[in-house]
Amino acid sequence: MRGFGSLISDIRRRVPDARVLEGVPMKEHTSFRIGGEAPVMFVPERPETLAELCAALSDLGVRPLVTGNGTNLLIEDGELEFPVIKTMCGDDNAHLSGDAEITAPAGILLSRLAVFALQNGLTGFEFAHGIPGTLGGAVSMDAGAYGGEMKDVVTSTLAFDPERGVYEVRKEEHDFSYRHSVFSDTDSVILSSVISLERGDADAVKARMDELSEKRRASQPLDMPSAGSTFKRPKGGYAAAMIDGAGLKGCSVGGAQVSPKHAGFIVNKGGASFDDVMRLIEIVQERVFREYGAELEPEVKIIRRRWGTE
Ligand SMILES: Cc1cc2nc3c(=O)[nH]c(=O)nc-3n(C[C@H](O)[C@H](O)[C@H](O)COP(=O)(O)OP(=O)(O)OC[C@H]3O[C@@H](n4cnc5c(N)ncnc54)[C@H](O)[C@@H]3O)c2cc1C
Repeated sequence: MRGFGSLISDIRRRVPDARVLEGVPMKEHTSFRIGGEAPVMFVPERPETLAELCAALSDLGVRPLVTGNGTNLLIEDGELEFPVIKTMCGDDNAHLSGDAEITAPAGILLSRLAVFALQNGLTGFEFAHGIPGTLGGAVSMDAGAYGGEMKDVVTSTLAFDPERGVYEVRKEEHDFSYRHSVFSDTDSVILSSVISLERGDADAVKARMDELSEKRRASQPLDMPSAGSTFKRPKGGYAAAMIDGAGLKGCSVGGAQVSPKHAGFIVNKGGASFDDVMRLIEIVQERVFREYGAELEPEVKIIRRRWGTE
């Protein structure tokens, strides 16, 4: 790869609207508070800048790590060998693009989008209010909670792909399935999405959002750094119930711990390293397999310092 100095000057010249941060500790940009140093982080100041930035990096043959709010990431410690794009930026307004349809940029927080839906008397997005990620991260992961999923509401997405440039993905082409979409295993970057909701009663929408927030507060370790549920739901059961049943609640490796409040979450109880979490993941996988014959697959995205080593 080219030196980052010349990459930075190229991007500054070609995409002046992108903020450029050098030597960025990723632990400050992930909810796990874990991760090594990115040589450079590009933050598009406006949603339109994201497409220009992706095109410029693609022309330069550079493959970035695209992050939203970093709430589903486990990043290796040490110096990362690739630049990072952080799509979450201040200028992230959603707008109504139809009677019950909202178009929003990838970097908007789901909580903000849910409040926008509420303010416009729209129902169907309450499930997403408490998920701490961005729209782009949620579409990529088919995020979901309390019976709702992105696949229920997303009707179209604009994305950038190094081979195709900017292109549109329509409803069924998203290929959504549990915690997976057509974007999950590609270098495509989601630029914006359209969600289709229904007209509803604003008081009822607000009441449902409050009810779900309370459920989260009561059951999840929201006061501890984590990346949410560590594992996907295995066939024939729930990861948290199996981990609890295997006696692993509270089990620790270094600063990483199976949350005593919710066994589905690994939390960082202070100074956890990437290796601590990886070792704890292995222990949990081995013990659950021994007890239940179930293979737990990580839901968190594990990012190594070098591309292609996972
Ligand atoms: C306390 C807590 C509770 C959570 N609860 C839930 C829950 O109820 N349900 C749930 O599904 N998840 C939950 N999560 C996990 C997480 O919030 C979701 O997966 C969320 O969708 C991730 O969004 P993000 O913006 O943080 O993405 P990131 O963590 O930044 O990235 C996640 C993945 O999406 C990709 N990505 C991000 N933006 C883009 C883009 N614009 N284009 C292409 N790819 C992109 C990244 O490359 C990465 O592969 C929880 C996490 C925490 C910490």
